[in-house]
Amino acid sequence: MPFRSFLNSLAQDLQGGALGGAGRGGGYGYGAGGGGFGAGGYGGYGGFSQPPPAQVPQATVPCPRQQPQAGHQDWIGLNDPRFATFNVCPSCYNSSIRPTPYANSFVTKGGALAPPPHVAVRCDMSRFWVKTASLVLLTMNQDRQLDITLLPRVAGIRAQEGDCPNAQLASEQQPLAVAQRTWYTAQDPQTGAQPLAGWTVCASCVLNIQACCPAIAAAFAPVQPAAPREASCAMVPSDRYDDARTMEMLQQIGGCAVTAALMRRPSLSQLVDWLRANPPRQRGGGGPVPGLMGGTQPQPNGLCPRNYPSTTLRCHTMPGLFDFTVCEQCYADVIKPDANRGVELARQFDPNPAVMPSGFTCQLYSDRMRRVWSETVSSGNLEHLRQKVGRQRLNSAQAWA
Ligand SMILES: [Zn+2]
Ligand SMILES: [Zn+2]
Ligand SMILES: [Zn+2]
Repeated sequence: MPFRSFLNSLAQDLQGGALGGAGRGGGYGYGAGGGGFGAGGYGGYGGFSQPPPAQVPQATVPCPRQQPQAGHQDWIGLNDPRFATFNVCPSCYNSSIRPTPYANSFVTKGGALAPPPHVAVRCDMSRFWVKTASLVLLTMNQDRQLDITLLPRVAGIRAQEGDCPNAQLASEQQPLAVAQRTWYTAQDPQTGAQPLAGWTVCASCVLNIQACCPAIAAAFAPVQPAAPREASCAMVPSDRYDDARTMEMLQQIGGCAVTAALMRRPSLSQLVDWLRANPPRQRGGGGPVPGLMGGTQPQPNGLCPRNYPSTTLRCHTMPGLFDFTVCEQCYADVIKPDANRGVELARQFDPNPAVMPSGFTCQLYSDRMRRVWSETVSSGNLEHLRQKVGRQRLNSAQAWA
């Protein structure tokens, strides 16, 4: 979904008051917010009334200065020395900023504000997260918590572990990039529960989402147990194409942020519900879920089926304990790191995941079973694991009976 359609559907969500999960089995009703999105209630985003969200200006020509270029003397930016390194090309200014109420904050840069002529500079409006931030300002800033400094602040975000591993992807045909990092996921700030095993987001994307949506900043936390592991980022913040699934997730995140601002409770439940109902598609135009195509390329960032039996996701098994079925994501989270450091039990797992035509549930999504696993790894007592797996299976079978 290109940015423009992303915006339009977000605007429709907001204007219609439908706001995604709220009416569709999300945790709480939208009406509890006091009906702030009634006909007149939405006039105040950012302190202006034009343009309405569905007509937010969008660049129709690609930014001509996406690659750093030296020698231009017509850079445009904020008249604020704190943000002297924020540069916008005239083309992006004219298409994306001039028609908005924020135009007055911008000046053609000269003197100390201008980049030295020999320094190659990139247009910041061509960056994925800056574009996203500008949409946030124009469509969701109804509580006026954010101002135009959001754009240079987002342009300046640099995560310690580096840019998103997916930032360089050029199309949806390319698989997500796998990296060894500390990963973040959705966390209930009240209970500490992490409902989306397998949904991992890199530090860079989290910092950008938190800057754009402060109301849900507290709903992201490192994947527990916090340690670097191999995974991929669920987001594709590519400057080279608009990734449809990323746009859909951002739309859900935007809905969460608006609800959270109203409810004063950072919750990602709308996103969680949406992700459960919409498992990732095979990248490259394949089937609706990873694993269906039988490819050998593992599809990281698939969701864990937890105790919902899945006939489409793939799982890992080990000889001698076939009941101990582990989804690809939990395998990557737990088993593979153990195998890499030489744990014999982990090495007994078949590294090639397979679909179970009769369905499988993941035996390693819960903290409890992960604890049992690590106890078994330390003690070498496979019987302990066998008993726990048997008990867990009985429990989930009863739950489904
Ligand atoms: Zn530009
Ligand atoms: Zn990322
Ligand atoms: Zn799992």
